[in-house]
Amino acid sequence: MKPKLVRTLAALRRETAKWRAEGLRYAVVPTMGAIHSGHTHLVAEGLKRADRTIATIFVNPKQFAAHEDLDKYPRDEEGDVRKLGEAGCHMIYLPNPDEIYPQGFCTTVTLGGPAKAGLEDKFRPQFFDGVTTVVAKLFTQTGADYAMFGEKDYQQLKVVTRMAKDLDLPIEVVGIPTVREDDGLAKSSRNVYLSKQERQQALAIHSAISHAAERIRAGLDLQSAMTSATRTLLALGFKVDYVTVRNAETLVLPQHRDEPLRILAAAWLGKTRLIDNVGV
Ligand code: AMP
Repeated sequence: MKPKLVRTLAALRRETAKWRAEGLRYAVVPTMGAIHSGHTHLVAEGLKRADRTIATIFVNPKQFAAHEDLDKYPRDEEGDVRKLGEAGCHMIYLPNPDEIYPQGFCTTVTLGGPAKAGLEDKFRPQFFDGVTTVVAKLFTQTGADYAMFGEKDYQQLKVVTRMAKDLDLPIEVVGIPTVREDDGLAKSSRNVYLSKQERQQALAIHSAISHAAERIRAGLDLQSAMTSATRTLLALGFKVDYVTVRNAETLVLPQHRDEPLRILAAAWLGKTRLIDNVGV
């Protein structure tokens, strides 16, 4: 299928109004492009719940700090359109930056709660304000019934879910399990930055946190499991931002080991920052 491409809010609203007039329900899949099977899986999951799916592609400058990879973030519009079309996506919204941040734009959506859990927010302080501001806009611009987000970005999923609830946005945020390479590495647009050797090392992040989850299930205390996973990654040459276990819903530090738990990690291999998480 060839998805319909729209680049302006006016065109987006025209097209979605037609769907509404036909009584169709639709899902939105917000992305920054460089589409891979993690993204197309979200499209497929959207199609299980709704009649139509819109993917959005917007590399959001507000969620990058000055020293981060905004300029070199991988861009491939033609390939993205083809992959999303093959996944059955009906429409792709590729907004011109003016459609998102028109002249005079001065509103920021800021959350407490999961956005201030001391995880990504501690290392990328600008990140969640950028995410929540653009996602609030994409929700209201598309008017979708469902929004599909990956568990790959677990804190982001919790932040966006909280925002939609707090602002009574009429959309259901759906979290979808992480799509992985055969060796366990989470699919990510940023994996293209890894050298051949780093790509080999990278699988250790998933194996270290999965092993920690197993050891916790087997009775090891939470702190020892985290210390041991951190040591493993350091020994393999990672620079570790965090390896931590949190309450899977609130992301606060657990009081008891029988709470629902999630292990979250972020670590650098050379110039590439990888994040991953697993349930316990
Ligand atoms: P991004 O384009 O990287 O900002 O990601 C767009 C959406 O795709 C977010 O909801 C991500 O969590 C999701 N996503 C990215 N990688 C994966 C993956 N490997 N598995 C599932 N979802 C993913």
